[in-house]
Amino acid sequence: MKEIGLYIHIPFCHSKCFYCDFNSHSNMEDRWSSYVEAMIKEFQMKKELLSQYIIKSIFIGGGTPSLLPITQMKKILDYININLKMKKDLEFTIESNPGTLDREKLEFYLESGINRISMGFQAWQDHILREIGRIHTKDDFVQNFKLAREVGFKNINVDLMFGLPNQTIEEWRETLENIVKLNPEHISSYSLKIEDNTIFARKYDKGLLKLPSEEEDRKMYYLAKDILTKNNYIHYEISNFSKNTYESVHNMIYWKNHEYIGVGLGAHSYINKTRTSNLIDMNEYIKNLNIGNEIHIVEEVNSMKSHISECMFLGLRLVKGINIHELNEKYKVDIEKIYEKQMKKLIGEKLLKKEGKYLFLTPKGIDLSNQVFMEFLIE
Ligand code: SF4
Repeated sequence: MKEIGLYIHIPFCHSKCFYCDFNSHSNMEDRWSSYVEAMIKEFQMKKELLSQYIIKSIFIGGGTPSLLPITQMKKILDYININLKMKKDLEFTIESNPGTLDREKLEFYLESGINRISMGFQAWQDHILREIGRIHTKDDFVQNFKLAREVGFKNINVDLMFGLPNQTIEEWRETLENIVKLNPEHISSYSLKIEDNTIFARKYDKGLLKLPSEEEDRKMYYLAKDILTKNNYIHYEISNFSKNTYESVHNMIYWKNHEYIGVGLGAHSYINKTRTSNLIDMNEYIKNLNIGNEIHIVEEVNSMKSHISECMFLGLRLVKGINIHELNEKYKVDIEKIYEKQMKKLIGEKLLKKEGKYLFLTPKGIDLSNQVFMEFLIE
């Protein structure tokens, strides 16, 4: 039976972080119940599809899934546990934000099969957390992290951000050094991007955002790499680090361009080389599910050529790179022939390197990764 990843979207947050353009909404407590009911209907609608697969990873993301009360989350988890076929060693993650977790919730997650907690933290300094619109303090995070351990979570991811307004390199160092002391199994470390339609975009346009320079941003990137690898984290993807064997199974599905099914508001799926996305308007999503209508839109049906092109630029995000032999065998193609021109150019410019069956980004290639990925886009 084919394996697949399952993504479940919970689009609720306490308030909106200043940099966030995710599909998340605050002040919608009155919708929690009708949203969960609608999501169960979506699961029922997808029952036949889901029955064709065995689930190898589940990611409940958001938004802030840990904001949902146990009574609501229980409806989702009960449905999953009763109706879906899951792999024995399934990775089952829930995203959370400090300040929204307590012992009761954590124990309930663990009892319901969730075995990985992903915590959005971002920075060690309370003044930075305030300046980026986070609702929690450093102490809230440390308390929640320790509680998750105490309850029994053996696999914890921490999300960090650098290149933040008014953040110094020393503050970034302090963040990294303190996180390392807590010893999570996985750390994601992303550079701030100013996205359209965010509070930061409006401030940026008015010249009111003091961001680290491009040079400082790169220094912060390499500082993370240095500190984390010295502390036994494997740098396995451009922005992700893990202890041995703790790479994120779910994210690997995306980077390897494998199949996944998304459930929930605006959730994306990729099955049979077809990308679909669910309705993004909350009222429409709930209304349509209540009357039994389909709620997804087909965005793209990939040809083999575009599927391979995606495998290239997604796979190159992995530090290990692309296993050319594996791709050739899986898709009955000759990668080195298809991308002869691009590989020659990029290897010549020392942006890519080929060693044995692997093609991967050089350090210079990592710095200029978007430029490299562009070369593999289909014109
Ligand atoms: S908690 Fe996450 S999803 Fe919610 S507003 Fe902040 S960044 Fe966005």
